[in-house]
Amino acid sequence: MNVTYACPQCDAPLRQSFDAATRELSCPACGQSVETPAGAVEGDQVRRCLVCPSTDLYVRKDFPQRLGVLLVVVGIVGSSVAWYYGSLLWTFGILFATALADVLLYMFVGDALMCYRCGAIYRGVAEMDSHGGFDLETHERYRQMAARIKA
Ligand SMILES: [Zn+2]
Ligand SMILES: [Zn+2]
Repeated sequence: MNVTYACPQCDAPLRQSFDAATRELSCPACGQSVETPAGAVEGDQVRRCLVCPSTDLYVRKDFPQRLGVLLVVVGIVGSSVAWYYGSLLWTFGILFATALADVLLYMFVGDALMCYRCGAIYRGVAEMDSHGGFDLETHERYRQMAARIKA
Protein backbone atom coordinates (compact mmCIF):
# COMPACT_ATOMS: atom_id res chain seq x y z
CA MET A 1 0.00 0.00 0.00
CA ASN A 2 1.18 3.53 -0.53
CA VAL A 3 -0.06 7.02 0.16
CA THR A 4 0.42 10.20 -1.85
CA TYR A 5 0.06 13.36 0.20
CA ALA A 6 1.45 16.81 0.76
CA CYS A 7 3.78 17.20 3.73
CA PRO A 8 1.85 19.16 6.43
CA GLN A 9 5.04 21.03 7.26
CA CYS A 10 6.61 21.97 3.93
CA ASP A 11 3.90 20.99 1.37
CA ALA A 12 6.33 18.75 -0.51
CA PRO A 13 4.46 16.16 -2.60
CA LEU A 14 5.26 12.78 -1.05
CA ARG A 15 4.57 9.18 -1.94
CA GLN A 16 5.32 6.64 0.74
CA SER A 17 4.55 3.01 1.23
CA PHE A 18 3.12 1.77 4.48
CA ASP A 19 1.60 -1.30 6.10
CA ALA A 20 -0.15 -2.21 9.34
CA ALA A 21 3.17 -1.95 11.22
CA THR A 22 3.89 1.62 10.10
CA ARG A 23 3.89 4.01 13.06
CA GLU A 24 5.00 7.20 11.37
CA LEU A 25 5.61 8.69 7.94
CA SER A 26 8.50 11.07 7.63
CA CYS A 27 9.18 13.71 5.03
CA PRO A 28 12.51 13.37 3.20
CA ALA A 29 12.45 17.07 2.32
CA CYS A 30 12.11 18.66 5.78
CA GLY A 31 12.38 15.71 8.17
CA GLN A 32 8.96 16.33 9.69
CA SER A 33 7.28 13.08 10.65
CA VAL A 34 3.58 12.37 10.97
CA GLU A 35 2.50 9.84 13.57
CA THR A 36 -0.07 7.52 12.10
CA PRO A 37 -3.15 7.09 14.33
CA ALA A 38 -3.43 3.74 16.11
CA GLY A 39 -5.77 1.33 14.34
CA ALA A 40 -5.74 3.36 11.13
CA VAL A 41 -4.42 0.40 9.17
CA GLU A 42 -5.91 -3.05 9.70
CA GLY A 43 -4.24 -5.74 7.65
CA ASP A 44 -4.50 -4.47 4.08
CA GLN A 45 -7.31 -2.05 4.85
CA VAL A 46 -7.16 1.62 5.70
CA ARG A 47 -9.76 2.76 8.25
CA ARG A 48 -8.99 6.47 8.38
CA CYS A 49 -6.56 9.04 7.05
CA LEU A 50 -2.96 8.53 8.16
CA VAL A 51 -1.72 12.06 7.74
CA CYS A 52 -4.58 14.20 9.09
CA PRO A 53 -7.27 13.82 11.80
CA SER A 54 -9.96 12.95 9.26
CA THR A 55 -11.81 9.66 9.59
CA ASP A 56 -13.66 9.98 6.28
CA LEU A 57 -12.30 8.52 3.07
CA TYR A 58 -14.01 7.87 -0.22
CA VAL A 59 -13.26 5.60 -3.13
CA ARG A 60 -12.81 6.94 -6.62
CA LYS A 61 -11.33 5.87 -9.93
CA ASP A 62 -7.59 6.34 -9.99
CA PHE A 63 -7.85 7.97 -13.40
CA PRO A 64 -4.67 9.54 -14.79
CA GLN A 65 -6.15 12.99 -15.45
CA ARG A 66 -3.29 14.18 -17.65
CA LEU A 67 -3.45 11.14 -19.88
CA GLY A 68 -7.21 11.60 -20.25
CA VAL A 69 -6.79 15.22 -21.28
CA LEU A 70 -3.95 14.29 -23.63
CA LEU A 71 -6.19 11.74 -25.38
CA VAL A 72 -8.89 14.33 -25.91
CA VAL A 73 -6.37 16.82 -27.31
CA VAL A 74 -4.84 14.20 -29.61
CA GLY A 75 -8.34 13.34 -30.83
CA ILE A 76 -9.24 16.95 -31.59
CA VAL A 77 -5.92 17.88 -33.21
CA GLY A 78 -5.67 14.60 -35.15
CA SER A 79 -9.19 14.83 -36.52
CA SER A 80 -8.73 18.53 -37.41
CA VAL A 81 -5.64 17.64 -39.44
CA ALA A 82 -7.53 14.83 -41.17
CA TRP A 83 -10.43 17.22 -41.80
CA TYR A 84 -8.00 19.72 -43.31
CA TYR A 85 -6.73 17.07 -45.72
CA GLY A 86 -10.31 16.20 -46.62
CA SER A 87 -10.38 12.69 -45.21
CA LEU A 88 -13.77 12.18 -43.59
CA LEU A 89 -12.93 8.60 -42.69
CA TRP A 90 -9.80 9.57 -40.76
CA THR A 91 -11.53 12.55 -39.16
CA PHE A 92 -14.13 10.36 -37.50
CA GLY A 93 -11.78 7.40 -37.16
CA ILE A 94 -9.36 9.40 -35.01
CA LEU A 95 -12.13 10.96 -32.93
CA PHE A 96 -13.71 7.58 -32.34
CA ALA A 97 -10.43 5.81 -31.53
CA THR A 98 -9.34 8.37 -28.95
CA ALA A 99 -12.80 8.43 -27.35
CA LEU A 100 -12.72 4.64 -27.17
CA ALA A 101 -9.23 4.70 -25.64
CA ASP A 102 -10.55 7.12 -23.02
CA VAL A 103 -13.39 4.76 -22.12
CA LEU A 104 -11.09 1.72 -21.99
CA LEU A 105 -8.64 3.61 -19.82
CA TYR A 106 -11.46 4.47 -17.44
CA MET A 107 -12.61 0.85 -17.30
CA PHE A 108 -9.22 -0.60 -16.56
CA VAL A 109 -7.77 1.83 -14.06
CA GLY A 110 -8.00 0.72 -10.46
CA ASP A 111 -9.62 2.47 -7.53
CA ALA A 112 -7.95 4.70 -5.01
CA LEU A 113 -9.03 5.95 -1.61
CA MET A 114 -9.04 9.64 -1.03
CA CYS A 115 -9.22 11.73 2.13
CA TYR A 116 -11.96 14.39 2.23
CA ARG A 117 -9.92 16.68 4.42
CA CYS A 118 -6.37 16.69 3.10
CA GLY A 119 -6.70 14.99 -0.30
CA ALA A 120 -4.25 12.20 0.53
CA ILE A 121 -4.56 9.34 -1.97
CA TYR A 122 -4.23 5.71 -0.87
CA ARG A 123 -3.40 3.02 -3.40
CA GLY A 124 -3.14 -0.76 -3.19
CA VAL A 125 -5.58 -0.91 -0.28
CA ALA A 126 -7.96 -3.86 0.17
CA GLU A 127 -11.76 -3.52 0.32
CA MET A 128 -11.86 0.14 -0.61
CA ASP A 129 -15.56 -0.15 -1.43
CA SER A 130 -16.37 -0.31 2.28
CA HIS A 131 -15.73 3.44 2.41
CA GLY A 132 -18.33 4.31 -0.18
CA GLY A 133 -18.12 6.83 -2.99
CA PHE A 134 -17.82 10.57 -2.87
CA ASP A 135 -20.45 12.19 -0.68
CA LEU A 136 -21.14 15.87 -1.23
CA GLU A 137 -22.46 16.42 2.30
CA THR A 138 -19.30 15.05 3.89
CA HIS A 139 -17.20 17.07 1.49
CA GLU A 140 -19.15 20.22 2.41
CA ARG A 141 -18.68 19.52 6.12
CA TYR A 142 -14.89 19.30 5.72
CA ARG A 143 -14.77 22.33 3.46
CA GLN A 144 -16.62 24.46 6.01
CA MET A 145 -14.42 23.14 8.79
CA ALA A 146 -11.34 24.16 6.82
CA ALA A 147 -12.84 27.59 6.16
CA ARG A 148 -13.49 28.11 9.87
CA ILE A 149 -9.92 27.17 10.76
CA LYS A 150 -8.55 29.67 8.24
CA ALA A 151 -10.80 32.52 9.42
ZN1 LIG B 1 8.21 18.20 4.60
ZN1 LIG C 1 -6.40 13.34 5.42
